[in-house]
Amino acid sequence: MTTTSVKRLPAENGRSGWEAISRRSLPVRSLEGNVTADWLIIGAGFAGLSAARRLLQLRPYDKIVVLDASEIGKGTSGRNSGFMIDVPHNLSSSEYASGGLDATRLEMAQNRAAIAFAKEAADEYAMSSETFDPAGKINAAATARGMRLNISFGQSLRSAGEKHAFLNAAEMQEITGSDYYLGGLFTPGAVLIQPANYIREFAAGLSRKIDLFERSPVTALTRNKGTWAAISPRGKVTAPNVILGVNGHIDDFGHFRGRLMHIFAYASMTAPFPAEDFGRQVSGRDRWALLPADAMGATVRKITSCGQSRIVIRTKYTYETTITVSDHRMAKMATEHRNSLDARFPGLKELPFEYSWAGRLCLSRNHVPAFGEIEEGLYSACCENGLGTVKSTLAGIMAAELATGTASEQLEQYMDHAAPSRLPPEPFAWLGINSVIRLQELRAGREG
Ligand SMILES: Cc1cc2nc3c(=O)[nH]c(=O)nc-3n(C[C@H](O)[C@H](O)[C@H](O)COP(=O)(O)OP(=O)(O)OC[C@H]3O[C@@H](n4cnc5c(N)ncnc54)[C@H](O)[C@@H]3O)c2cc1C
Repeated sequence: MTTTSVKRLPAENGRSGWEAISRRSLPVRSLEGNVTADWLIIGAGFAGLSAARRLLQLRPYDKIVVLDASEIGKGTSGRNSGFMIDVPHNLSSSEYASGGLDATRLEMAQNRAAIAFAKEAADEYAMSSETFDPAGKINAAATARGMRLNISFGQSLRSAGEKHAFLNAAEMQEITGSDYYLGGLFTPGAVLIQPANYIREFAAGLSRKIDLFERSPVTALTRNKGTWAAISPRGKVTAPNVILGVNGHIDDFGHFRGRLMHIFAYASMTAPFPAEDFGRQVSGRDRWALLPADAMGATVRKITSCGQSRIVIRTKYTYETTITVSDHRMAKMATEHRNSLDARFPGLKELPFEYSWAGRLCLSRNHVPAFGEIEEGLYSACCENGLGTVKSTLAGIMAAELATGTASEQLEQYMDHAAPSRLPPEPFAWLGINSVIRLQELRAGREG
């Protein structure tokens, strides 16, 4: 018998505004006692829930159990900016499309397969357009450098035959109500989700056919005579096959240690303000979604519901070896958000933030997932490289196909990557990665 103790469990850093304004229809159920299943999935984010949905399609009569340490929508899957992006989106350099034409085409095909899978789920689970909105996104540029990055990104999209449109400063102002931006690059294929709604409605849709247990952390995983057992404080799940959809926590399960970068991203959401006259005057149309032209800049979204608007802003990253950050750091990041918001929307200076939060991303140095059968009957669908709404969705689908022996060209292409490469030992990794982030953020300047 082999046993791995899971020493660190997920923790929340601030309350996600998306989660706070989202309603959940599904009662919380925790694991009590011993359960046997055909499949156990650990983690109920994009990866874990997508794996469950794909397994249901492939093995409709099998028993599937999903365990999560937290509550659906409170983890990183319910605290992101909600951009499901089809075009290349490489966060580890300031240019999004850093590969050649073939790599760009493959990445787009993979991202689109994940978005199509998400759309099928959104249709089946009757998600509204507030939850799942195929509206496209704009890469907004506030500096001459940002404009150059947009032009270069536009060129790579043109070479790949992809639809895109450049927007000038007046058009950006008409959309956002702000004269901060010099221009933008619109691409139509992105879907904007309300992430907490999406993940909750996805889970509620699945829950008719699977057993989903929240507040049920896995504290140890054992293997005995070909069967896995996941131990939780008040129960145990035994299954021959396990899929890990725990993203960066995969190294707390003893795999890919020293190969994954845990990057914190920080966001804030304003209090609501009236959408009509005042809202339109200071912040333009009811809904828009801006990514920064420089990947190290600020992501800004405006949402409107029942006559009330809010702005959500994400900017700044840090690399951490811990799973929580200090209150001091959280306050500092909220101040950064305030400065970025005020610079763009001076008319909202008096409007407070209602929520500020952070969440953990998982990146590998060589931009590959931590994927595959890592022990007999144990599969990893982890390391989303910062774009988990699509990459973790895809990893979950692929893990279900791999685990059921469902061969496809897509799976073959997906599996064709190196393992995540090794990081320098600590504290050199911490120092090096944070220095690179700081330098890139300084270079991004007014984009942040
Ligand atoms: C501020 C911010 C903005 C972002 N914006 C975007 C964006 O616009 N677009 C985009 O694509 N991505 C974005 N991301 C990243 C995105 O949120 C992640 O990539 C995504 O959540 C990863 O999904 P996942 O399912 O792989 O992992 P997670 O969402 O982290 O889910 C893993 C689950 O595993 C559970 N778990 C871990 N350990 C255990 C255990 N021992 N026992 C039981 N359960 C366990 C956790 O509770 C968690 O629910 C953003 C992230 C942040 C923080």
